[in-house]
Amino acid sequence: MSQILINLSGVGKNFSSADGSERIVLEGVDFTLQEGEIVALLGKSGSGKSTLLRIMAGLLPADKGQVTYRGQQLFGPARGIAMVFQSFALFPWLTVQQNVELGLEAQGIAKEVRSEQAEAAIEMIGLAGFEGALPRELSGGMKQRVGIARALVMNPDVLLMDEAFSALDVLTGETLRNDMLELWESKKTPMKGILIVSHNIEEAVMMADRILIFSSDPGRVRAEIKVSLPRERSEDSPEVRALIDEVYTLMTARPVESDANGKAEAQYQAYRLPEAEISQMEGLLEMLADEPFNGRADLPQLAEEAGLSDEDLFPVYEALRLIGLVNIEHGDIHLTSLGQRYCQADQAFRKHLFGQQLLQNVPLAARIHHSLKLEKSGELRKEPFLNLLEEFLSAEEAKQMLEVAVEWGRYGEMYEYNYHTGMLKLPDAE
Ligand code: ADP
Ligand code: MG
Repeated sequence: MSQILINLSGVGKNFSSADGSERIVLEGVDFTLQEGEIVALLGKSGSGKSTLLRIMAGLLPADKGQVTYRGQQLFGPARGIAMVFQSFALFPWLTVQQNVELGLEAQGIAKEVRSEQAEAAIEMIGLAGFEGALPRELSGGMKQRVGIARALVMNPDVLLMDEAFSALDVLTGETLRNDMLELWESKKTPMKGILIVSHNIEEAVMMADRILIFSSDPGRVRAEIKVSLPRERSEDSPEVRALIDEVYTLMTARPVESDANGKAEAQYQAYRLPEAEISQMEGLLEMLADEPFNGRADLPQLAEEAGLSDEDLFPVYEALRLIGLVNIEHGDIHLTSLGQRYCQADQAFRKHLFGQQLLQNVPLAARIHHSLKLEKSGELRKEPFLNLLEEFLSAEEAKQMLEVAVEWGRYGEMYEYNYHTGMLKLPDAE
């Protein structure tokens, strides 16, 4: 029987927005980290991953649910849990050695012991010889090594890594990832479990024993994939490619209508739009239609060709699928027959097709259009629509959502928006 390191059950967290309204960031999060495993948590930006990690590290209290570390309820930071941050979070005026020693100092450990332990950690992560350097003298990869050394020096039982590799360039990130895996396999440290939070699918597949997919608004664990491939894994092996495809498919799947919150949730989902601009959608469609893809692409390959991250591309995929121009299956994206017609059409016909699809598939756009049709003047203020959205979203998000709906609606020539007067109106006839 393996030991449970960290357990979360029914964890919820709210934050209050600038306008004073409450926003549910995490809701009903269940999670377990067992001894001996590396778990990856994959989710979009803003889905609450960092908040969740801070709760697990005892840096932030949960509003709801239970958090335990080795069977004990967690109150405040626990000694056995260390964290590595995306931003490195180093003190610029302290040397590498001093940065690494900070945590030990806080624990009141004697100077000699401190410096010995820090040197060992620095050596372990491959920074020997840089003890006296200041952060600004180091490359990004080396800075993050300091960030990791600072966590390792605490001899953690559990290591939480918050997008620790994502600020680094691809090669540096990969090298550091591999060094971490080597350290893990070597058992040179007392580390018993690692949780990596990431939005990089490949990173998760290369590192983890289990991948959890985290959904947004509110954040919760939506799906789990076990990875039973032995490490070290080869990026190009068919097993790894198949897993990457599987995770892609799961991440791009629209959430199933919720059972828990019933109607409100369904309505909310229906009004939620992916934040994708028309130019991004057009650009991606054109790449997909062209050589070498000719209408069908492996998602990771398309991302590579586009030179964009998954994070940038997910809203675009979602938007194109919502509009009915592409489908996504088994990690592949392909043009629907309508998508093919769209790509062959001239600008005017594209707009027409887009507008038609908008009315059929995007409830918020349809609602705006129909409401305007019912008005004799063909004009309405934007506030009633914002109010509608604010039933489900924060004021800030409602504004963003309406902006997306406005951009799409203008492109599809379903309605227009006057930024000076704040009025939505039907396009001028003829
Ligand atoms: P992720 O790490 O997945 O990008 P975060 O956990 O950083 O997401 O943030 C989730 C949401 O919670 C965001 O909308 C963010 O603006 C909000 N949030 C995070 N921390 C705070 C805070 N201290 N006060 C108010 N809102 C916060
Ligand atoms: Mg984060």
